[in-house]
Amino acid sequence: MSKQAEVVLLDKSHYPRVKVCGSGLSPHALSILGRLDLIQQIAPLHTPIKAMNATAPGGSHFRVSTGRDAWVVPRVELDQRIAQTAVAFGATFHEQTKGLALLRDPQGQVRGLKTDRGDFEADLVVCADGSPSRFSDDTSPKRTIRTLMGWWRGASFPDGEAYMVWDRRLAGYYAWVFPEPDGVVNIGLTIPEHAPDAKRLKPLFQELLEEHFAEGLAGAEQSGKWMGHPAVISTTVGKIVEARAMWIGESARLVSPGTVEGISFALESGVTAASHIGRHLGLQRGFSPLAQRGYQAITGARMLPKFWAAEAFAAAMNSPTARRFGRGVIDSPVTPLVERGIKHLFGNAEGMI
Ligand SMILES: Cc1cc2nc3c(=O)[nH]c(=O)nc-3n(C[C@H](O)[C@H](O)[C@H](O)COP(=O)(O)OP(=O)(O)OC[C@H]3O[C@@H](n4cnc5c(N)ncnc54)[C@H](O)[C@@H]3O)c2cc1C
Repeated sequence: MSKQAEVVLLDKSHYPRVKVCGSGLSPHALSILGRLDLIQQIAPLHTPIKAMNATAPGGSHFRVSTGRDAWVVPRVELDQRIAQTAVAFGATFHEQTKGLALLRDPQGQVRGLKTDRGDFEADLVVCADGSPSRFSDDTSPKRTIRTLMGWWRGASFPDGEAYMVWDRRLAGYYAWVFPEPDGVVNIGLTIPEHAPDAKRLKPLFQELLEEHFAEGLAGAEQSGKWMGHPAVISTTVGKIVEARAMWIGESARLVSPGTVEGISFALESGVTAASHIGRHLGLQRGFSPLAQRGYQAITGARMLPKFWAAEAFAAAMNSPTARRFGRGVIDSPVTPLVERGIKHLFGNAEGMI
């Protein structure tokens, strides 16, 4: 596009808003925030993750130094800074404005968004409404991961240490502890919705807190209520573009199966979409069929190999071998697998799962 675009940002929430999220920023997320010149702004808000303490499904423990930067920046802060930056660059931000439906012309082309505060006409709508999205393609294969998490103040976990526990009840998924600023930790669990224990999420969370994190939580005070939010995962990329609409982040199901890491993929897909808009959006006809195929293909090529690796990792964590190895077996064959997964996640931006 040759002329300056007029950008309108809509969100149903009032900012700053809490997002149910571990708020862990992998090296991949940090490298994209660096490209967006946001690192300086968020640096004062971060807590570093210096080491990850992992527990494999059979119970063996080990500690992996992250080696590279991995940060926790509470989403209430991170998302506020990102929205403020968009406004500083000229976007108009309408908070508490809920998108209800895509507006389409008689030919079926998207022409704007119907919201609870009136209709917004647009040459292009970029859907970034997370999961579950009311606008995303419902025909592609997907699975739901349930989550539950909370925040605690005054916990006694060592500074900069994070924890991930692949408890067998979580069916290949994990519980975590991430350190936040001011002595706060966030703790949560992820579990596939069809796992037997997903039907009793609260008692399960209570058991995990007592069995795995009681020592660090001794004397800590819970801050606020436990909160849950579904993550919708996929190992394919469904329809994420039309002539005048695009989908990014979790509304495009771009979240890693296995790790439920999604911030970096949301940021990366936003950057990819912005670059595609700049190069290929024609105001007369929107994206050509070729440009649409290009966005679909680039997104798939960049993200799917990481999703497939993460899916394989979760399957391995739920395998009979992983479950068989007993507590304290440091040399179990599962240990290198978990170690590799953690290192990929927190120690190597390129090969991240
Ligand atoms: C419990 C949990 C823990 C997680 N931990 C991590 C982690 O530590 N690290 C990590 O990388 N990823 C994590 N993730 C995944 C990560 O939170 C998401 O992948 C990421 O937030 C996706 O970003 P997004 O911008 O696509 O969507 P979101 O962050 O969900 O943002 C969507 C926005 O759209 C708004 N919205 C929704 N519907 C409408 C509507 N109809 N109209 C207008 N606005 C609307 C919402 O208010 C929200 O602000 C976690 C997820 C969960 C559930």
